[in-house]
Amino acid sequence: MIRFDGVMKRFGQNVVLDELNFAVEPGEFVTLIGPSGSGKTTILRLLMTLEQVSGGRIHVGGDCLSHMRRGERWVPADDKYQRQIRKRIGMVFQQFNLFPNMKVLQNLTEAPIRALGLSRAEAEERARDLLELVGLSDKIDAHPSQLSGGQQQRVAIARALAMRPDVLLLDEVTSALDPELVAGVLALLKDIAKTTDITFLCVTHEMGFARDVSDRVMMFDHGHVLEDAPPDKLFSEPDHERTRTFLQAVL
Ligand code: ATP
Repeated sequence: MIRFDGVMKRFGQNVVLDELNFAVEPGEFVTLIGPSGSGKTTILRLLMTLEQVSGGRIHVGGDCLSHMRRGERWVPADDKYQRQIRKRIGMVFQQFNLFPNMKVLQNLTEAPIRALGLSRAEAEERARDLLELVGLSDKIDAHPSQLSGGQQQRVAIARALAMRPDVLLLDEVTSALDPELVAGVLALLKDIAKTTDITFLCVTHEMGFARDVSDRVMMFDHGHVLEDAPPDKLFSEPDHERTRTFLQAVL
């Protein structure tokens, strides 16, 4: 579903990802862990086309995301091309990023109407179903500022699901939440992961959650995959000393 082939990402002289290769199969839940600055968020931003590769290729669902055909040649993909592929990818951010001046309902209907061409009635029906799923049917007419952080994050999850994505990217989605709200959001995500065939790529410091829901965990260091293993293996008997010291520091 997702494939990074020799991906390089550089900011000026700073090489953040260096010849990065990995694949995520359809329906897999893969978690990225590793020290601050190791390039985890950059991977998600490349998939959202918020950044562009400096080298290599990214594929999503069999299509190249980073490059497109122009006659006989492959050239860096333009925004119009990338928008088509990006429709299949949703992202939930640390800071929720809801539209502050729109009510909850509109937050969920805006993109499906604009980007998928749903009618308002279809989009609203989908939104109501999703608000029920995330337990917020009674907040349909609220503005984001009237909601708790946990509720805002549930709306953000519902908004991402409203696009019926094949891939959902989660970037530290509980880091901005009060501790007592974290478990509820993680339980919701676990439920979605278990009951849908969405492919997840997740960056988190919640190691209990990572261990519980992931099919695979990838440990990053300096823009490389240092270790890639099922969670029980990686957390209990990592191959690398660097993974061991990282886990000791965060667990
Ligand atoms: P954290 O766990 O702290 O979020 P991370 O592993 O997600 O870290 P990234 O946010 O991907 O790391 O950052 C990797 C490196 O890329 C860092 O050195 C960062 O300073 C650099 N970087 C990221 N975005 C930019 C940018 N827009 N311009 C310049 N440098 C950037």
